[in-house]
Amino acid sequence: MTITYCVGDGLYINITNRCSNDCSFCIRKLGDSVGSADSLWLGREPSREEILSAIQKNNLTEYSEIVFCGYGEPTERLDDLLWLCTQLKESHCPPIRVNTNGHASLIAGYDTAPLFAGLVDIMSISLNAAGADEYDQLCKPVFGETTYHGLLDFIKRVKKHVPVVALSIVGGTTDTEACRKVAGELGLSLRVR
Ligand code: SF4
Repeated sequence: MTITYCVGDGLYINITNRCSNDCSFCIRKLGDSVGSADSLWLGREPSREEILSAIQKNNLTEYSEIVFCGYGEPTERLDDLLWLCTQLKESHCPPIRVNTNGHASLIAGYDTAPLFAGLVDIMSISLNAAGADEYDQLCKPVFGETTYHGLLDFIKRVKKHVPVVALSIVGGTTDTEACRKVAGELGLSLRVR
C-alpha cells in the first residue's frame, strides 16, 4: 500500500481512492502510479495514524512541501486530513499543499473553508472548465449540475483562509483563455498542467 511517494522535491500523500468526480482526463485512467510510487490504488484506506506514521518515516527536512494528492480526492476524508495537518504543523513540517477538486463543502454539506485556516499553506484547486455545462460534461460530478456553482463558492470562501490558492486546468481539454478569465474574476492565477 503506497501512502507516501515523491514527485520532484515534494512528499506526496495518498489517503483515499474516493472522488466525487469522474473526469474524462483523470490520470488514474492512464496508469497505476505517479512519481516514485508503485501503485496508488489502495486495497483499503489507511487509518489516520497509519498515514501519520508513514509520513514520519521520511526525513521531512529533505522536502520542499508536503502535498495531499494521491489517487483520489483528499477532502473525501476531511476530518482525517485536518487531523493530519494539525499533527504535522505541531512538528514544524514543510509547507502543506492540498490538491483538490474543490468539493470539500459539497461533500461535507456545510462551509468547510474556515477549517483550513492555519493548517494548509497552499491549495491547488482544479477549475477544469469555464462553465457549469462544460464542467458537468468533463467531470461528471456526483452532485450534478449545481457542482460548478459550489466549486466557485468554495474558491471564493477558502481564499480568505488559505494564504496561497491557485486554480488549474488540464491543457487541451478546455478553453484556456475562458478559464483564465474565470480565474481572473476570482482574483487568482491559472496553471495549465
Ligand atoms: S477530480 Fe481528480 S481524482 Fe477525481 S476524477 Fe477528476 S482528475 Fe481524477
